[in-house]
Amino acid sequence: MEFAEFALVCERLEALAGRLEMRDLVASLLPGLGEAELPVFIRFVQGRVFPDWSSEKLGIGPNLLYEAVAYVAGRKRADVVRLVNETGDAGLAVERLLERRQQSSFFSDSMSLAEVHALLVRVASSAGPQSQQAKMRLLRQGFGAMTPLEARYFARLVLAELRIGIGEGTVRDAIAVAFGVDPALVEHAQQAKNDLGEVALLAREGPASLEAVSIVPFRPVRLMLAQQGTIAQQLADFGPVAVEYKYDGSRIQFHRLGKVGRCWSRRLEEVTHALPEVVESLLAATHGDVILDAEVVAVGPDGRPLPFQTVLRRFRRKHGVAEAREAITLVPRVFDCLWADGETLLDRPLAERRARLEALLIDHLAPQQVLGDVESVQAVYEQALTDGHEGVMLKLPGSPYTPGARGRAWIKIKPEAETLDLAVIGAGWGEGRRAGAFGTYELAVQDRGRLLPVGRVATGMTDEDLASLHALVQDLVIAESGASVTLEPGVVFEVGYSEIQASPTYASGYALRFPRFVRVREDKGVDEVETLESLEERYLAQTTRTGADAHRDDPTS
Ligand code: AMP
Repeated sequence: MEFAEFALVCERLEALAGRLEMRDLVASLLPGLGEAELPVFIRFVQGRVFPDWSSEKLGIGPNLLYEAVAYVAGRKRADVVRLVNETGDAGLAVERLLERRQQSSFFSDSMSLAEVHALLVRVASSAGPQSQQAKMRLLRQGFGAMTPLEARYFARLVLAELRIGIGEGTVRDAIAVAFGVDPALVEHAQQAKNDLGEVALLAREGPASLEAVSIVPFRPVRLMLAQQGTIAQQLADFGPVAVEYKYDGSRIQFHRLGKVGRCWSRRLEEVTHALPEVVESLLAATHGDVILDAEVVAVGPDGRPLPFQTVLRRFRRKHGVAEAREAITLVPRVFDCLWADGETLLDRPLAERRARLEALLIDHLAPQQVLGDVESVQAVYEQALTDGHEGVMLKLPGSPYTPGARGRAWIKIKPEAETLDLAVIGAGWGEGRRAGAFGTYELAVQDRGRLLPVGRVATGMTDEDLASLHALVQDLVIAESGASVTLEPGVVFEVGYSEIQASPTYASGYALRFPRFVRVREDKGVDEVETLESLEERYLAQTTRTGADAHRDDPTS
């Protein structure tokens, strides 16, 4: 497939609103793609260059991209930035600039999908002091060979935001339709493989290949997620639950093969080098090859847990790891086992995975009790809080491990008022004492690959917070208009509120009353923020409750 054809497909997808039409269009193309093209197409159409499990990054920010485009279009960088501000979209801006380019420099060479992929792989692998120039040369080469429409999608692909509105579910269904297999099997294979590109190849081989998938060590799978709930409801609906402490740390997935141990963060970024003592202690604590799910906590000299931010600081650290390791003790609390000695355990019930875990782990096991009455669970919950933990997790003993899914198989019980994790999509300059930094942040929920605004937050931040938040987002500015800016989505805020209100002001249809900044969720990606669907559920749940408790979640009720 030529990249030009891919761009035309994207343009058609962008114009379609219906999920089924999108699915069918993608499905109609898949059987005709070659062995090497199929996975690339599947990843590209999702705005990705690498498999989901890969930590590989292109290492190109908007500024480098604008410079490359300016060069190819024979314009100044400022012209590119102005057009991006006008259109609010780097892809459209690039397209327009290249439309005005001299005809003679067009179409030197057209590129195939595979060639664009190879070029991007080279972009990602250029490292070292000269890497920015090398990446720039490759980008210029790419844009130089492209029509304006191709450049629109190439620019967006480079910025990891294709904006064609196709979600993972639609691509999954398209694979099922294209190769005549059950969508549930495709989903099942995706849970283990974490790369729809590879899953498409398996689907082409047939259902047996999809069924036979297994996890591969050193390719992280997505983490299973928890939903909010209440003790009484969970017990009433499901009977006895496995109760564990909810540790206030940061999630890791640990892989061991032979003598090598590596670990990944919740966002599947590799953190092996930042957490050497965690890797060492898990290597020492395990028999055989394993993949484990755990929370890493920091403990103080008295053995009590330290705040979650202390752990995150260690995750981010690239230099001075040895000194940091001296200052803070990190301990893993292991609560699940996804794979052991070549066997994929995702489909096994929690009780069985737990038995495997207990047999193979010598140390660092997170205690668990199966309990069936509210009072006993409540007692563990209170003990958890007394011991300085966040609360408890209630898990269904018969449930499989479902990577990336949030459901009632795992619920979290914690005391604080409800908060939402929201994507930061814009900011406004502060005034008066707050001038010089952004003072408000625009927030959004996600809905099938789109981010929809739910309002702004301007309280809950100290002056230091404002300065550090500004530093965090300043490189993400993609457009400016008056006192506000549009930000490339990349940062997630946890935000408290007093009530969710229906509101025509924001595209989500909702607004938050008294939004209050709680913290940056550095461990969460934009694809993990609150969904519109769950915001709606919260809204409805709140209107069915009454009085002063309308926004409070009583974990015991
Ligand atoms: P939240 O981040 O509030 O959605 O809560 C879910 C998170 O709690 C998980 O992603 C883990 O990082 C963390 N956690 C702490 N203890 C446990 C546990 N025992 N089981 C599962 N997750 C836990």
